[in-house]
Amino acid sequence: MTDVFLPQDIDELWSLLNTKPEAVLYAGGTDLLVKRRSGLIDPPSLVCLERIQELKGVRQDGDWIFVGALTTHSQLLCHPIIENDYQVLSQAVAVLGSPPVRNMGTIGGNIVTASPAGDTLAPWYVLDAEIEIRSESTSRRVPISSFILGPGQVDLRRGEILAGVWTKRPQGFHIRHYEKVGRRNALACAVVSMAALMNISADNAISEIRVAWGSVGPTIMRFREIESFLVGRPLTPRGLGDAILQVQQSVIPIDDIRASANYRREVAGKLLLRLIGYTS
Ligand SMILES: Cc1cc2nc3c(=O)[nH]c(=O)nc-3n(C[C@H](O)[C@H](O)[C@H](O)COP(=O)(O)OP(=O)(O)OC[C@H]3O[C@@H](n4cnc5c(N)ncnc54)[C@H](O)[C@@H]3O)c2cc1C
Repeated sequence: MTDVFLPQDIDELWSLLNTKPEAVLYAGGTDLLVKRRSGLIDPPSLVCLERIQELKGVRQDGDWIFVGALTTHSQLLCHPIIENDYQVLSQAVAVLGSPPVRNMGTIGGNIVTASPAGDTLAPWYVLDAEIEIRSESTSRRVPISSFILGPGQVDLRRGEILAGVWTKRPQGFHIRHYEKVGRRNALACAVVSMAALMNISADNAISEIRVAWGSVGPTIMRFREIESFLVGRPLTPRGLGDAILQVQQSVIPIDDIRASANYRREVAGKLLLRLIGYTS
């Protein structure tokens, strides 16, 4: 039988982790408990984080916001700051799972699961998010691209937890776009996804862009050289043509039951065409 512990606050969590260093954490359990039920993992004890209030919610700090790791997707979706300034994130959360999954699943759980198909990840990459990692005695902040090391692998050491995500207001980016291509609209894992923040000039050329893709490599893929190449290009099929080819040559997708690598490569590039039609 597995012991399950339910600390009431963060101090109780640290005491528990000192006495049960082998315990596995969970928040909403929508990834971890599914893996346990299917026999993929069998931890000796579990620690449920859901009562720890200080790791919940969205808080503003100057130009930055902090999203607590235990904030559920539903809570994020109806938060006014996210609705107004972080549409790239709210568009992604709106298509994550189903309402019950969004009510239970958390931002921290989605990041630590580190699936290349995780819906919140590409938005966090284009938002240049930083992950706050805490242990009983230390706290550190790392860019999300350094925190996620590979599928299911993150830079978390024994005794550390993901406390939350910091991100700066994406000022000046008027166009915020997230799109997920799946095998059906609801409850589908992304076959390919793309998050973009963009600005265009009066003559319909890209003046600034950040763009990242999911499900086309071991982690989210963002190519700074393609972003630089796109600046100054007209936002037309012809203007984007060379960049589409560069994306298709740069991504490293795999074949799996949901789609072939070739299909993913093709779609990843062509998703750039979705940006046409936005106006400044
Ligand atoms: C039916 C269904 C549909 C789904 N659809 C989607 C989808 O469309 N898109 C998508 O991206 N995901 C989807 N998921 C996956 C899942 O719901 C999300 O990844 C969710 O955000 C996980 O959050 P959680 O709190 O439930 O994680 P948990 O299962 O609680 O934890 C996941 C992992 O993170 C670790 N962890 C959790 N919180 C912390 C923390 N604060 N510090 C350190 N480690 C931590 C756990 O140890 C575990 O390894 C789906 C899942 C189900 C069951």
